[in-house]
Amino acid sequence: MTPGGIGRLAHRITLIPGDGIGPEVVEAARRAIEATGVDVTWDRHQIGSSAFARTGRSLPAATLGSIRQNRVALKGPIETPITSGLRSVNLTLRQELDLYANVRPCRLYPGVPSVYERVDMIVVRENTEGMYTGVEFEMGTAEVKELIGFVEDTTGVRIREDSGISIKSISESGSERIVRFAFEWAKAHGRTRVTASHKANIMKFSDGLFLEVARRIAAEEYPGIEFDDRIIDALCMQLIQAPERFDVMVLPNLYGDVVAELGAGLCGGVGLAAGAHFGGRDGVELAVFEATHGTAPDLAGTNQANPFGVILSGAMMLRHLGEQDAGDRLEAAVAAVLAEGLHVPRDLRALEDDRPPAGTFQAADAVIARL
Ligand code: NAD
Repeated sequence: MTPGGIGRLAHRITLIPGDGIGPEVVEAARRAIEATGVDVTWDRHQIGSSAFARTGRSLPAATLGSIRQNRVALKGPIETPITSGLRSVNLTLRQELDLYANVRPCRLYPGVPSVYERVDMIVVRENTEGMYTGVEFEMGTAEVKELIGFVEDTTGVRIREDSGISIKSISESGSERIVRFAFEWAKAHGRTRVTASHKANIMKFSDGLFLEVARRIAAEEYPGIEFDDRIIDALCMQLIQAPERFDVMVLPNLYGDVVAELGAGLCGGVGLAAGAHFGGRDGVELAVFEATHGTAPDLAGTNQANPFGVILSGAMMLRHLGEQDAGDRLEAAVAAVLAEGLHVPRDLRALEDDRPPAGTFQAADAVIARL
């Protein structure tokens, strides 16, 4: 994988509007991306409930085929019902395409209400294993009984009979590639320090392996980049106390998910948080760009959702495509709108600020005007 970008001229991109607020914020971002002047053709596809309604499949082969062919996608959020027992479409997409590296920048832009002065860190999260292998066993099933028996026989530990079980697995090869990705990202983006986080004191064979690999790769392959590590709970406390201390962070799946969301909270909230997933199979590098937030059903169809998270993901996408200047201009336009503070959506208004918030499309139009 090339964290510095793939570089080419005319771009065909898979566009997945998603569920809930997805179609609105993705459409707003599409307009802003086009306003940079970059030559883009959109190849529209669906996954999730809209795809299911049309094709009977949540993850149609045509959508997967489009991403494989175009190598780059811009995606809206997809709803995952908590209780239905269905496997998350997001998780399946990441595993199908082996999108192993989730990059979530946490940057505090001037003008955004926050108690901090400077936050500028990159969360690199392992995206395909750890707590999110997707291997789950429901309470009361024969499989759970068998697993409980196996665990008791091999370890002497008795798991309660009324337990549900989720499998956490961390591999040496999975850890190696995500740690290398984090260091390569640091190198390509002029970052000077990588911090690994874990709970190796408790989970010695999973998090312990991750930590051992991170220390080895840091020492053997990247002596020019500073490296340290933190236990995940200590990291969370230090992030709240002094987020300016952190630069690039690399974490197993669940911790990365939580810490990226914590980072979003330090920088104005989930409406502003951009993200990207990198990976691919059979030598074909793939990248899917999407904001961190979910479908926000409470805001769907109201023109109140913040489109900046998807627009900033679009800026990352443009840079990945080799359009560094357009990506920089798009991010600078968002930063200028935030600094001015007039055309920002409701979620970015301080409580005491009684100016009317901008709607999704007004906020995007303000970015387009800046471009
Ligand atoms: P959510 O991010 O949808 O909403 C959490 C809160 O943040 C809500 O109050 C919402 O109004 C607010 N919010 C989210 N995006 C916003 C935006 N752009 N502008 C302003 N406010 C915004 O998280 P949730 O409620 O936990 O999840 C809802 C659904 O989204 C679930 O089905 C979940 O599985 C799914 N989800 C999908 C993705 C994804 O596809 N990548 C990520 C997270 C959650």
